[in-house]
Amino acid sequence: MTPETGFRCGFIAVVGRPNVGKSTLINTILGQKISIVTPKPQTTRHRIVGVHNSDSCQMLFVDTPGLHHDAGKAMNRMMNRTATSALQDADLVLFVCEADRWTDEDESVLAQIRAAGRPTFVLMNKIDRVHPKEELLARISAMAGRYAFDEVLPVSALRNDNVDSLLALIPAYLPESEPLFPIDMISDRGAAFRAAELVREKLTLLLRQELPYGLTVQTERYEMEPEGLAFGAIIWVERDSQKGMVVGKGGSLLKKAGRLVRLELKHALGVSVHVELWVKVKDNWADSDRDLAQLGYDVP
Ligand code: GDP
Ligand code: MG
Repeated sequence: MTPETGFRCGFIAVVGRPNVGKSTLINTILGQKISIVTPKPQTTRHRIVGVHNSDSCQMLFVDTPGLHHDAGKAMNRMMNRTATSALQDADLVLFVCEADRWTDEDESVLAQIRAAGRPTFVLMNKIDRVHPKEELLARISAMAGRYAFDEVLPVSALRNDNVDSLLALIPAYLPESEPLFPIDMISDRGAAFRAAELVREKLTLLLRQELPYGLTVQTERYEMEPEGLAFGAIIWVERDSQKGMVVGKGGSLLKKAGRLVRLELKHALGVSVHVELWVKVKDNWADSDRDLAQLGYDVP
């Protein structure tokens, strides 16, 4: 297709504070899990592009780490920079917040959106939690007063509510362009990356409190063999004392995580899957730009 045919394509940055539902929204739009989701903040650490094609438009949704007040570590700075640069480069910004809550961190994200000056829709997510429904109207008009948003849309990413109206509004904001990604490609991230992320998701769900923030997962092996997929990954922790917590009593926690990963990969790929996980220590990796880069993070 050529620009003359009116085909449109562009980058749509999905930004907001941690935990508002950015990754859930992208997974719902694509009908596939390309980005991991947990009830805990700071689950997404990478810029991940999800590709949505229609007859006349290719939408490139950019999932980003939640913008948050810097907690000081190199990883937090990296996450904020990743989200900020996606925001500045976007053709359209989707600012996700929660319909029933407006916080200081939302206000800080909005300040960055103002400064970037890109066309912006605000998505008031999780409307399934707002009762009574009349309350929503007041919240929508309060939101509209905060900034000259191009659209104010109440949605539920989890329930796929009003996401269709969002998709219908997007093309008008994208430039005329040929598709930038092959149309059979759903994400810019490969299978080995997604499998490592799945391990991190399961561990984040199983582990308590702070520990998930101190671990990262690196795929060592991802090979399709006649008997199925052979997947091996290293779980890096920051300190020796964290190793035992990840392994669990008699290896129970690690086994449980491995089983959940195996079942999900088996279901997604339709082949049998063999998972091997190891826990290793890399002192304070989350506070070193060099370690971050070496562990597969884009340190912008
Ligand atoms: P992110 O950090 O912004 O990417 O947020 P996630 O997509 O990881 O979601 C954070 C939490 O919010 C998860 O527990 C999701 O299941 C939940 N969530 C996301 N969208 C909705 C929604 O529309 N309604 C409700 N009730 N929960 C949601
Ligand atoms: Mg996320």
